[in-house]
Amino acid sequence: MLFCGAGFALFLTLGLIVLPNVELLEKQALIKDMVRVKKQLESTQKQLHAFARDYAEWDETYAFMDDRNDSFAQSNLVAGTLNAAKADILLLFDPDGQARGQLYSQAAVDLLGELRISRYLLEVPDSPDYGFIRMGDQVLMFAQQPITDSDVSQPPRGVLFFLRFVDSQMARSISENLGFDVSLSIGDRSSAEERIEVGFFGGDRSLAWHSIDLLLEPRFVLTIRLVQSRPFYAAAWETMAWALLSLLVMGGLLSVGVFYYLNRNLVRPIQALKQQADHYGESGDPTILKTLRRSDELGMLSESFVKMAASLESHRRSLETERQQYLDASYTDALTGLKNRRFLDQYLKDCFARGGADTWLFVFFDLDHFKHVNDRYGHDVGDIALKQLAGLVQSHSREGDIVVRQGGEEFVLLCNGSDLAQARQIVERIRTEVSAYLFGPPGRAFHMTCSLGFCLLRPAQCIEDISVWYEMLKAADLSLYGAKRSGRNTWVGVSCQDQDVLRKDFSKVDLLTEEVAAGVLTLHSSLPLGQPVDWHSGEAQVTKSLNQS
Ligand code: GH3
Ligand code: MG
Ligand code: MG
Repeated sequence: MLFCGAGFALFLTLGLIVLPNVELLEKQALIKDMVRVKKQLESTQKQLHAFARDYAEWDETYAFMDDRNDSFAQSNLVAGTLNAAKADILLLFDPDGQARGQLYSQAAVDLLGELRISRYLLEVPDSPDYGFIRMGDQVLMFAQQPITDSDVSQPPRGVLFFLRFVDSQMARSISENLGFDVSLSIGDRSSAEERIEVGFFGGDRSLAWHSIDLLLEPRFVLTIRLVQSRPFYAAAWETMAWALLSLLVMGGLLSVGVFYYLNRNLVRPIQALKQQADHYGESGDPTILKTLRRSDELGMLSESFVKMAASLESHRRSLETERQQYLDASYTDALTGLKNRRFLDQYLKDCFARGGADTWLFVFFDLDHFKHVNDRYGHDVGDIALKQLAGLVQSHSREGDIVVRQGGEEFVLLCNGSDLAQARQIVERIRTEVSAYLFGPPGRAFHMTCSLGFCLLRPAQCIEDISVWYEMLKAADLSLYGAKRSGRNTWVGVSCQDQDVLRKDFSKVDLLTEEVAAGVLTLHSSLPLGQPVDWHSGEAQVTKSLNQS
């Protein structure tokens, strides 16, 4: 682009400044040449006039005008005189205007024919010593001189004229002398100017023309024309064209070079960096970032970029670890290390979002008379006992089971994929394991029992409403309190086949017992067969006892 601009500027400079100046110089040179042609013509005229004076101021001519002796005519009115003067016509007029002697070259006879120089030349007042006249379509140069004796002491006896054709031969001779082409012709005065005119025709031809007045001719002039080539103008054009071409070529080459250089050293590395940044942005993996093997600023930039990404990744990991720790802490019970209720809520929401059919078993269990433990052994021992209980239940739970400390000394166990028999086994095992376990610190050990309640939904179902699980939790909780009221160290549970049953609000025990009585919910208990579950607000018959299952 830069070179194209420079080329254009150069082109304009040459076109607007150099070429007009070249034209001006050419014009001046043409005018000078024309002046030289005019001087050449004048010099020729002066030579002709010198001959005229030699012959006119000569005693023999003077005598001839008086006596017209033949010897003068025989020796001087001959072709040799014309040749010597390079003239075509020699005329001798007496003071009355009568031609006393006349001599015409063959060319003059051929060209003029019947035309003869009349005496009108003599009638021009103050006619100059030399000049140009027209005869037919010919222009002649003339020179005149009064005829006197050699001392120019006697009165003139007439006038002597030498005339010469201004023709192609004269033009050729001037051309040879000056070294350029000259043309001389008769022209129309109306189209000619007094001054020297110059015109240019394209880049290869120039023309200068000038007119010289003819004696007694208002309409015609002698036109001098110089047609010349224009070497300087052509050279300037050629220089301009070459300069432009070379600038374009250089500009083109340089542009290609600059493009290649920038592409290799700037564009491609930046693209590589961008690509890496994009991949890093998508994957977050800083190992895909590679340092560009360069010693320049881009290499340094890519090195900083890789370091920055590694540092970001390290920060991200530590943040992620911290986030996970806070998340775990927020889902964990500080005392027992079990999951807490917030975790259970989130877990159920995640399960619901995932979908999928399964069987669901919720177990609530609570230590019996735990207050007495605290009262008797102290709160710290109570804490130890709670941790021991957590460890005990976890050690017996299967993979995938979730043990949650619901609050205080109350816990929830969530098991999937269990049938009724397995549910009964689970709760019975917890009950027996707890009652057999020695709680408390060494030396101050004691036994405790717990009561359990559960709710089982079978067969495997895809839960359609998350509230189903919360109703199951309520039903399990109510069952736990049924177990408490029925004597503790025992378990009570309900099961159902259809989740629609669990769309009711089981926050009230009456509703639960109604559903049990209606057979929609099936009641299970470890109580001996026939011993009713004490629901406090009513009783429901246990359908099967532990011993019977
Ligand atoms: P019940 O058989 O009816 O469940 O009787 P309980 O004494 O176990 O139940 P109650 O609700 O009357 O008392 C629960 C006690 O649990 C009261 C409280 O001091 C104790 N407790 C709750 N949380 C903690 C805890 O984190 N540490 C200790 N040491 N005791 C706790
Ligand atoms: Mg309790
Ligand atoms: Mg309790």
